[in-house]
Amino acid sequence: MEALVRWHTPTEGFISPAVFIPVAEDAGLIDKLGRFVFEEAVAQLVNWYASGLNPGKIAINVSPIELQKTDFVDILVEKLQLLGCRPEWVELEITEGYTMRHPEDAIELLDKIHALGVKLSIDDFGTGYSSLSYLKRLPIHKIKIDQSFIRDIPGDANDEAIVNVIIALAQTMHFDLIAEGVETATQRDFLLDHGCLNMQGYFYARPMPANEMTAFIKNFDSRA
Ligand code: MN
Repeated sequence: MEALVRWHTPTEGFISPAVFIPVAEDAGLIDKLGRFVFEEAVAQLVNWYASGLNPGKIAINVSPIELQKTDFVDILVEKLQLLGCRPEWVELEITEGYTMRHPEDAIELLDKIHALGVKLSIDDFGTGYSSLSYLKRLPIHKIKIDQSFIRDIPGDANDEAIVNVIIALAQTMHFDLIAEGVETATQRDFLLDHGCLNMQGYFYARPMPANEMTAFIKNFDSRA
């Protein structure tokens, strides 16, 4: 499960995150928005656990700007305690761009987060520029194959090759792996056949508000 932010306004209707997130970044509001999403998502997760459900982990996107705040780890610890959330219930998604632009800072910070027991994943993998030597030094638990590589598989030979390389990389370096943006059964089958066993995307579920998710988790549990 990944926490996604959506914005419905009374006057403008639905505003896409592709529009308002860059604006929040430019306006210096992204860390506030990030904290809001984190608190909402974690509070909801704790709520599900408290009501006897098994929602698993929640993945939360964190912007490079938030990570560069000097009090990021302190606030993370404080919020988890305050909300009664176990660290292992949370996975923070960071981007390749952040880890590679400030590699030494990133290693130090991510080591601290990892030491708390919070999981870390690299989002949109393959779209930035990853240094394999740094990747090996990061306390990363999972990489997420960017949806741009999934869209045209099977069929696009380049994308098939890229996906296969990322799968091999994850297996060799012992990262968990998940494909983003899986929308069709043929995409799913290609990924399964080539060794990528975790997927997210419209094929499984569209983004939904928390109340619908409650029903989804109940159904999911009863299927399992
Ligand atoms: Mn993400």
